[in-house]
Amino acid sequence: MTSLDELKKRLREHVQRNGLKSSTRRDLILETLTNLGPHVTADQLLRAVRERDDRVGAATVYRTLRILQECEIVVERRFEGGASLYELVDDHHHDHLICIECKSINEFDDDAVERAQEKVALKFGFELHYHRHELYGLCAKCQKKRSAKPTATAR
Ligand SMILES: [Zn+2]
Ligand SMILES: [Zn+2]
Ligand SMILES: [Zn+2]
Repeated sequence: MTSLDELKKRLREHVQRNGLKSSTRRDLILETLTNLGPHVTADQLLRAVRERDDRVGAATVYRTLRILQECEIVVERRFEGGASLYELVDDHHHDHLICIECKSINEFDDDAVERAQEKVALKFGFELHYHRHELYGLCAKCQKKRSAKPTATAR
């Protein structure tokens, strides 16, 4: 995982390159994001930032998220049926399992799956640059809850 200092440096360079005004609030937002879990909504981030500085507005948070995406510190994940989630780009590739009931997200990284995808691309003569692999279904907890319900259909 890239350190916060490195991320701040990358942000500062991007800000200078694009002639934006530097802002300590942007650093605060980045810092708060690194302290939160791996997948956060803009609202969760805004709330956490406001706990530290209640003068920061929603527009600033949204704008900063856009800047963080431009300098590839953050990626936006749009999973089906949920709000956009923001995640720090880490050096380690991973894919996601998304529960359609409780919206929990699990990360996985499976060599066999990765290799199989590369093989498919190769077969099509396709130059693969990146992929998103998202699996939708019920997490273990929600399956248990479902089978505990008396109305559940018998198998
Ligand atoms: Zn993958
Ligand atoms: Zn679930
Ligand atoms: Zn993730």
